[in-house]
Amino acid sequence: MTVQPELKTGDTATMTEIRFHNTMSGRAEPFVPLVAGEVSCYTCGPTVYDYAHIGNFRTFVFQDVLRRYLRSRGFRVTQVMNLTDVDDRIIQKSAAAGVSIREYTDKYIQAYLDDRRALNLQPPEYIARATEHIDDMVQLIQRLTEKGFTYVSEGSIYFRIAKFPAYGRLSKIDVTGMQTGARVDMDRYDKDNARDFALWKAPKPGEHFWETPIGPGRPGWHIECSAMAMKYLGDTLDIHSGGVDLTFPHHENEIAQSEAATGKQFVRYWLHAEFLLVDHEKMSKSVGNFATLRELFAHGHKPSSVRFLLASVPYRSQLNFTPESLQGAASSVERLRTFAARLKSGKFPAGASPEIASRAAKALGDFDSGLADDLNTAQALAAIYDLVRDLNIAMDRGEFLQGDVAPVLAVLEMFDSIFAVLDDDDAEKLKSLGVGPSSPTLSDAEVEALIAERQAARKRRDFASSDHIRDQLAQSGIILEDSRDGGVRWKRK
Ligand SMILES: [Zn+2]
Repeated sequence: MTVQPELKTGDTATMTEIRFHNTMSGRAEPFVPLVAGEVSCYTCGPTVYDYAHIGNFRTFVFQDVLRRYLRSRGFRVTQVMNLTDVDDRIIQKSAAAGVSIREYTDKYIQAYLDDRRALNLQPPEYIARATEHIDDMVQLIQRLTEKGFTYVSEGSIYFRIAKFPAYGRLSKIDVTGMQTGARVDMDRYDKDNARDFALWKAPKPGEHFWETPIGPGRPGWHIECSAMAMKYLGDTLDIHSGGVDLTFPHHENEIAQSEAATGKQFVRYWLHAEFLLVDHEKMSKSVGNFATLRELFAHGHKPSSVRFLLASVPYRSQLNFTPESLQGAASSVERLRTFAARLKSGKFPAGASPEIASRAAKALGDFDSGLADDLNTAQALAAIYDLVRDLNIAMDRGEFLQGDVAPVLAVLEMFDSIFAVLDDDDAEKLKSLGVGPSSPTLSDAEVEALIAERQAARKRRDFASSDHIRDQLAQSGIILEDSRDGGVRWKRK
């Protein structure tokens, strides 16, 4: 991969080729959309039976970084995300709660959309509820039936895997020895259960069902994504993404349903995000390391720290989520915000230095080529950290000039168009979510460290940084009193 030192924003001719790792081929491939300048993207959204957890949000943040990056490269992105508001678990849970499916899922959809806003996830162009697309699913099942891909058993309609020889190509499972006609009814199952799967499920006594031309019942989980993806994006999509656990059976089944119906390739690039681990274990309710965003916020963690941590680890690496990694993310964000404040409000000597302009251009080029390399966010971030370190030194030495502000600001703007953490709006977001405390409580050692940092900033007459730190401390309820001898006393509000 080549780095273009002279790279400027918008200079697309010299930009690094974008490559994505395609699960289907198992390789990184150059990304070329079907229609020049446009990208169609399908995102498997949440099943809204509970609050989404941070493992889910790892995937959603990855999808947001993907979308923002493509847009920063000038692509027009059309993204569709589904909301699974009917499945086995929803039916059970709404029945147990004694409310309708609609009432039950409305609450969690609202919570999910609020959580997305807290993490600065850009809204997809289409958010599609499964229960509002029953007709589309029924029509797709009818097409499959006309082509002989389905059969009926006890009122349910199944997809006949034996009729679709490509089955298993995405997840690399071997179905050759599979018994013809063996069926699975559950929406979620593992590779040992590779069977004919339900497209349409006959109603069980007392269950909610839809009366349709293919009989009473409700859709299986997999058919909804095929139907909604093709409805909004056409038969062939550029990118389909999701968590790695969706590869089988969900995405395998989506391919089978869609390609059997259309005879065309369904998805050109399959992108899958790796698991999020908590203290090196896969997050699950049974292990008890299951955290929702709101729980993290209630413990004083900021939305920006969570977003930054989830975005900073490249999506194909496992991410180990610990309180320490979250703290680390919080201080990285703080360092970047402090630098941005210093840049915007600092008073620098007149003039402009060509070295700093070319240093900024190099950072921009490195940032872009990191992301172009299968969204290597860690590499992209390293370019920004290096720049910030070098420029803090230049500012301390008085070598940074007023005319250098604009090119460096352009780099920060590009960075923030992807990472979206520089706006200091965490407190507002937490307030609007109704979770608190609105600011994290700092330990005595953390307060002392920030005060030392502020003293150092004052010493080098960097008042923008020192004011920023004072504000940050104030937000956490720490009041500073500068004493005459140059020392600082502090107390908690
Ligand atoms: Zn899906």
